Amino acid sequence: MRESIEYDLLKSKEKALQYNEICHAVEQHKKEQKSSAVHPTKRIGYAVVGLGKLSLEQILPALSTCNYSRLTALVSGDADKARKVASQYGIAESSVYNYQNFDEIINNKDIDAVYIVLPNSMHHEFTIRAAKAGKHVLCEKPMANSVQECEEMIKACKEAGRKLMIAYRIQYEGYNALAKQWTRDEKFGKVKVIEAYNGQSIPDANHWRVKKNLAGGGALPDIGIYCLNTIRFLLGEEPTSVFATTYSTPHDARFKEVEESMLFQMTFPSGTLAMCSTSYGTQASRNYRVYAEKGNYGLDPAFSYSGLKMHTVTQDGQIELKQMPTMVEQNQFALEMDHFSESIACGKQPYTAGEEGLQDMRIIEALYQSAYEKRMIKLEHLNGKDLFRGHEPLKNV
Ligand code: NAD
Repeated sequence: MRESIEYDLLKSKEKALQYNEICHAVEQHKKEQKSSAVHPTKRIGYAVVGLGKLSLEQILPALSTCNYSRLTALVSGDADKARKVASQYGIAESSVYNYQNFDEIINNKDIDAVYIVLPNSMHHEFTIRAAKAGKHVLCEKPMANSVQECEEMIKACKEAGRKLMIAYRIQYEGYNALAKQWTRDEKFGKVKVIEAYNGQSIPDANHWRVKKNLAGGGALPDIGIYCLNTIRFLLGEEPTSVFATTYSTPHDARFKEVEESMLFQMTFPSGTLAMCSTSYGTQASRNYRVYAEKGNYGLDPAFSYSGLKMHTVTQDGQIELKQMPTMVEQNQFALEMDHFSESIACGKQPYTAGEEGLQDMRIIEALYQSAYEKRMIKLEHLNGKDLFRGHEPLKNV
């Protein structure tokens, strides 16, 4: 018994030292404006849950470019796939779990956090199970399929004393951060109107993304959420009313259960109006434009994993000035995971905590209500800026 207490004390001292090193590196980053990594063994350990397209193509490769985060475990329903991926990333067989024995992660001290990359309907269950196993949770967007589920996820993490962050990678990306700064500083005057589009084609009628019980909805919660969340991020405000219309091509097998397209408007307390649209039936296109008194600016593409481009248009007398600011591209998933690791190590509320995901879900429910009832829906009038966000992410260097 005594031996085990001493072992636990030693372990918690080790953790405290490990976390201190990360916080020290973060301070160095801020002071010197250059990234400063900690030794791989000192990084926050992640179990990636779900080995689908996003995990295999983006998240696992991104982990190897992180400064404060590392891969320490995998969770998958497909044992063969998990074994292959584990050997590719040097993960021991004892750190590979399936959906049934997932709760055993409680005994794995190398797992500080889980990153949930499963179909939307599974986010709720796995967040709650991870919190009960004493792990911090980074959960993919949309946070869940209902406001109630989001509230339960926040409660479970609070009760377990663990952090919860929603993976809104755009809020950690450099060009989008610059657009936010210009919006907040009124660089081109007051922002009057923002337009945003996020569309792509869903080829497969059997995909979980078009099954209501798994996806929660169609284009809106999957990709339209980028328009909604990015505009809230740019302005820092919360909409006071929304109005939406949906359309699905009749007899198209893909859209029997969920909407193909949605057009939606949002009104903000400062008077800014937003016009957004999203579709599962178009060629991929992802962009937004911010129209201010003395110019307009935006990104096209805005929501892709890489290759983002910013364009500004201003006027000097009769002459229209077009510019394309450039910056060094950084991996969005690495920025997002390192922010969560910093939040865990230094005990800070993540910038996109569970409350941010819950607020999106409140608005998503209002948008569906608006489309269903064919009327404008008023939302609670919330004053103040960044009401649901935690500490600011590090500046990209
Ligand atoms: P995917 O279909 O490629 O992978 C889903 C994984 O879940 C697969 O490994 C699959 O085997 C597993 N799974 C377990 N139970 C399942 C079930 N009942 N039905 C279907 N799959 C099941 O999906 P994805 O594109 O990797 O998306 C996963 C999550 O990541 C979603 O929440 C999605 O919204 C989110 N996502 C986020 C981004 C981003 O840029 N942040 C991009 C894509 C996806």
